[in-house]
Amino acid sequence: MNGAAVQQQSTYKQLTLITPTAAMHASVHGGRAKCLQRLIRLEMPVPVTVALSFDAVQQIARGQSVDMDALMAPFGPQPLLSVRPSSQDPDWGGPSAILNIGMNDARHDAMCETMGEWAASAMYLRFVQAYAIHVARLDPDEFYLPDVPDRLSLKAMLDTYEAETDEQFPQDPAVQLTQVLRSMARAWDGTTARLLRQAKGAPQDAGLGLVVQAMALGVGQGECGSGVIQYVDSTTGVPQITGRYMSQSQGREALGAAEGAIYLTRDPRGPSLEDLCPDAFAELVALRDICRRFLREEMQVEFTIENGNLHILDAVRVQRSSRASVRIAVALAEDEMIPREDAVLRVEPAALSELLHRQIDPLAKRDLIVRGIAASPGAATGRIVLTANEAQASAARGEACVLVRRETTPEDIRGMHAAQAVLTMRGGVTSHAAVIGRGLGVPCVVGASDLSIDFKKRQVIAPNGRRFAAGDTITVDGTTGQILAGEPPMLEAALDDAFQTLLQWADEFRDIGVRANADTPADAQTARNFAAEGIGLCRTEHMFFEGERLRVMREMIFAEGGDDRRAVLDRLLPMQRADFRALFEIMQGRNVCVRLFDPPLHEFLPSDKAGLRDLAGQMDVPLHEATARVEALSEYNPMLGMRGVRLGIAIPEIYDMQARAIFEAIAAVIKSGTEITVEIMIPLVSAMREVELVKARVDGVANAVMAETRTEFEYRLGVMVETPRAALRAQDIAEHAAFLSFGTNDLTQMTYGLSRDDAGRFMSAYVQQGVYAEDPFHTLDIEGVGELIALGAERGRAGRKDVILSICGEHGGSRSAIAFCRTHGFDYVSCSPFRVPVARLTAAQLALQDRVVS
Ligand code: PEP
Ligand code: MG
Repeated sequence: MNGAAVQQQSTYKQLTLITPTAAMHASVHGGRAKCLQRLIRLEMPVPVTVALSFDAVQQIARGQSVDMDALMAPFGPQPLLSVRPSSQDPDWGGPSAILNIGMNDARHDAMCETMGEWAASAMYLRFVQAYAIHVARLDPDEFYLPDVPDRLSLKAMLDTYEAETDEQFPQDPAVQLTQVLRSMARAWDGTTARLLRQAKGAPQDAGLGLVVQAMALGVGQGECGSGVIQYVDSTTGVPQITGRYMSQSQGREALGAAEGAIYLTRDPRGPSLEDLCPDAFAELVALRDICRRFLREEMQVEFTIENGNLHILDAVRVQRSSRASVRIAVALAEDEMIPREDAVLRVEPAALSELLHRQIDPLAKRDLIVRGIAASPGAATGRIVLTANEAQASAARGEACVLVRRETTPEDIRGMHAAQAVLTMRGGVTSHAAVIGRGLGVPCVVGASDLSIDFKKRQVIAPNGRRFAAGDTITVDGTTGQILAGEPPMLEAALDDAFQTLLQWADEFRDIGVRANADTPADAQTARNFAAEGIGLCRTEHMFFEGERLRVMREMIFAEGGDDRRAVLDRLLPMQRADFRALFEIMQGRNVCVRLFDPPLHEFLPSDKAGLRDLAGQMDVPLHEATARVEALSEYNPMLGMRGVRLGIAIPEIYDMQARAIFEAIAAVIKSGTEITVEIMIPLVSAMREVELVKARVDGVANAVMAETRTEFEYRLGVMVETPRAALRAQDIAEHAAFLSFGTNDLTQMTYGLSRDDAGRFMSAYVQQGVYAEDPFHTLDIEGVGELIALGAERGRAGRKDVILSICGEHGGSRSAIAFCRTHGFDYVSCSPFRVPVARLTAAQLALQDRVVS
């Protein structure tokens, strides 16, 4: 069958000769194949190429064959071929290309005559090497390329092949090609390839296509060689020609070559292609514009020069860092190559999170423990944990941790999600920890091999013998690869103009609000820097976790009787007022939602002897008395105990104090000209009467403060819906609440009857066995918890038509939660400050995708 026959059969057939009009699609043949068709349409000098569809490759992987006659027909009687992978998204990778298929003894003899022994032997050797390693799976150490490629070294390699396999090296090009296709098809199904592409966001059933192409020889008479060119810097995205060319080479050899590779543009450091082959160079430079204009992308182009003539073998999207991906998308839109909508859709939201992380202040003193490989950028501080379960438990307690492992495996992914940073002793930049760390945007250092772990003593040992116990605080600098003791000062992420521009465009398309969960002025500043529209959740109890404040808080808890308690509350009042004032000033012009105290009391009490002694000292009471008080206050199940509004109703003075602090802060900032809309949120509500009681007192305090300060202000009072009953009773609750904010952490805990603190223990087993598709504390359970939220939203609206609806649990910034909130007409999502840009971009992408569909 000839080439035309292959094409005729090819309305998405298994084999497609690539022509300008062949029926092809990236979702059928992969991105590389589709791109080659575009290059052919642009009349670029692309050698004859046949694309194998995903379907065909799957069939080959299963051991069935495709029509080899049809496949080989377009290449003539003596084919010399290459095979390259063509996955749907080039970023998902694929097996290495194999070149020179078709080389055999007879061909080698003939080519020795035409191009000389060295060039012919080099080609055959390269093929035998690739075939031995990738197809026959022989030991790579036995098949290195000799310095002198001649008949002798070739014979030695062919003999080694025969000795290792007990078979002669296959001579029939059809057999060679069949085996190459099979090995590449199977490699795609291997565990490593699967894990790598899943970490890059590929779906489970991502397909692989293959392209079979006639070789343009980079070896032979006249100027022959190969090279790779790209027109932007992969790290920064700034326009700049980079790449290498090497005479008498093939494929991408020029890039890895220590010797012989030359620069592309004229360069004072050495010879260049611009001088060697000015015409071919000029053609290559002109390609940039063509690629941008017609492929609407920044491409990396693989080329061959054969006797002075340029051939374009392949073009793929330039590999790019997160920073470069933003810059490239924005530049293409600014140059009107693509619409802004496309630019917004092109950047992976997860890529933004890489740009967002804090860095260690360059002026900070660094107490270096060890150096490793910088694998995922940004710096983070946390307590050492040695297992994924501990990391999850730590996250559930709201404690920052660093997961320290010898190396990570897929079992550790949940722990990595939960950790602020990851440190491993083994692995390189493409190891599991590194790939996953980057995917998650978690700072990560790998290969810190000078460090050791003593699991028995639960210690990490530095090269100088210094020991760090589990629970000690360390800092991972994923940008430099350093691990530091303690907590050095950090700088906020520096975001360049392209980043800001992209997010401004995203905001134009977005149709749901994005706020931040922020408890401190520092958090609020980060939220503002990331253009959060306000604070969706300020957990006021977090303002009391440290130092002197913890002490005053404990005094309040221990106070006996109303007078004592009031005295302590009088001391807390100015602290809170100052906190709120700072928040309001930072967030001026925006909404701030302050949640009244929601402290599970045990979090403020000591749990060991030393802590109890400390407490007794602080309170100036005997140890036995302190112990008895702690015992009296301790609960069997504190997360379901005297938390949230229950504390507010049992000891109303606490909420009175907070309301006063909020209102006095409002009065103060109004006087200094700051505009602010404050919302007060009541946590852990389960009955309408709770809201009525709290509302009456809060309104009373507001009136008193307005009278005392002679100011007028407005505020909203709303409810955090985080118990199933609150969702069920949302209608009557909304009659007293201007807004309902769904707290998906507790709502998940209570809907499943699953402890936020303890679920880590069995979560892996549950997910592995498919009991839960995902950890519901990480991915919003749309089917169950989502149904309750949807029902709560609907009932809430029935109670109050214009009730403001939002989500503020940890799920708030995730794609699935944002999509859910958009579907149900919510007003905003609230998430941690560092997720705000990701959420802004995600929300815009969802809105744009809806436009395409509708
Ligand atoms: C929640 O329960 O979803 C929530 C946001 O509150 P917290 O995590 O403080 O309990
Ligand atoms: Mg909660």
